[in-house]
Amino acid sequence: MKTLRPITCRVDELISVDKFAVDEENAHIELACDSLSELDAVEFGKLIRVCPAGLYREDENGERAFDYAGCLECGTCRIACADTIVKKWNQPSAFCGVSYRFG
Ligand code: SF4
Repeated sequence: MKTLRPITCRVDELISVDKFAVDEENAHIELACDSLSELDAVEFGKLIRVCPAGLYREDENGERAFDYAGCLECGTCRIACADTIVKKWNQPSAFCGVSYRFG
């Protein structure tokens, strides 16, 4: 298993108590590519830095990963890259998404 590079902004401990109901049939976030390696490095780098859940990742070999499961629905990635590589950003379907345990 590859080690993923740490990101600059994470709230792992805080979000570990939240619950997530993932809509496996309908991703609420989609990126503008067939393969993550095709995405602009600067734009993908923005997503790595701004996502508080650390859902956009790149390891030391440049291999990228993204999974909308675990999304906090903050919309930061939409603000950062809706004009470039975030092709779709919707609220999750009814009864899906994050349930905050605190706050
Ligand atoms: S909405 Fe927020 S938590 Fe979800 S993927 Fe975008 S930046 Fe990450």
